[in-house]
Order: sequence, then C-alpha cells, then structure tokens
Amino acid sequence: MYSYIYKISCKDPKIKDCYIGSTNNFKRRIRQHRYSSENIFHEQNNLYDFIRNNGTINNFQFDILLKVLVNDKKDLHEIEKQFIKNNDNLLNKYIPNRTQKEYYNDNYESLKQKRLIRYYDNRDEILLKKSSTMVTCECGSTLTKNHIHRHYKTKKHLNFTNKVCINEI
Ligand SMILES: [Zn+2]
Repeated sequence: MYSYIYKISCKDPKIKDCYIGSTNNFKRRIRQHRYSSENIFHEQNNLYDFIRNNGTINNFQFDILLKVLVNDKKDLHEIEKQFIKNNDNLLNKYIPNRTQKEYYNDNYESLKQKRLIRYYDNRDEILLKKSSTMVTCECGSTLTKNHIHRHYKTKKHLNFTNKVCINEI
C-alpha cells in the first residue's frame, strides 16, 4: 500500500516545533487532525495543545515528507520512527515500534539522572540511620551500638581503660 510520512508545522517560521506522522490516507488523516484539534480536550496531547496555543489548525501546514510503498503498518511505523529520530523540536510523545533498548538509549540522560537522585536520596537516608545508631565510647572511638561489646575487647579500648586505671592509682 502507498503510505505517507507527513509533517505538521506552524506557518510562523519562528516556531520550530513540529509533528511527524504516518498514514496511508493523507487527506483523511488531515481531516482527523483538524477534528481532533477542535474537539479533543480531555487528554493531555502535545500536538493539539500546541496547535491551540498557536491559534487554530489553519495556522499550520501539512507537508508530505515521503511517499512510500510498504507491506504493512509495521514497516510504515519503522520508517516513521527514523524520521522522528532525525528531527529535533518534535511534539511527538509516542514513537512507534520503539523497543525497550531504544527507549533506554533515548532516555539515557534522564534515566541516569533519576538513578543518581535515587542514590543520593538513599545515601542520605542510610547516613541518617547510621548517625542515629552511632555512639561515642569513653575512649573516644565512634562506633555503632551493635559493635560496642566487640569494641570493649579491642586493643584501643583496653589501652584506654588501662591508662585510666594507672592514672587512678
Ligand atoms: Zn572504647
């Protein structure tokens, strides 16, 4: 079937954001976009919110980027995906046929950041827990409560108690 990769962009050249889509019926798809831009309010939609924030769909143009013969929707989505990947300023939230790995690569930076934030959150929590169970022995050592009995048998602690004993004599 013949299919199309198309681009929706604002007629105002200062506005760079655009949307890339695919269809096997270009005219019908444009009618759907027009209808949706005027009627779809109930869900968060980047494209239609953007169109409404910049007037109406009449301020936007539809360009066919590629006319292509494909076997099925999956093939078409694969081509669409390449176009989406090679364009900046896209309003597309959904990338067709995107694998888990591709999603990971595309979002590497933000995932990394999330991991770092989680790490620091946990680290603070761990440090806080630790500090609440830390005690300072009379010999000057700082250790966790759990280790206090073991600590009483260490050389450092025994040396200290011996010194105290000698001083007291
Ligand atoms: Zn001690």
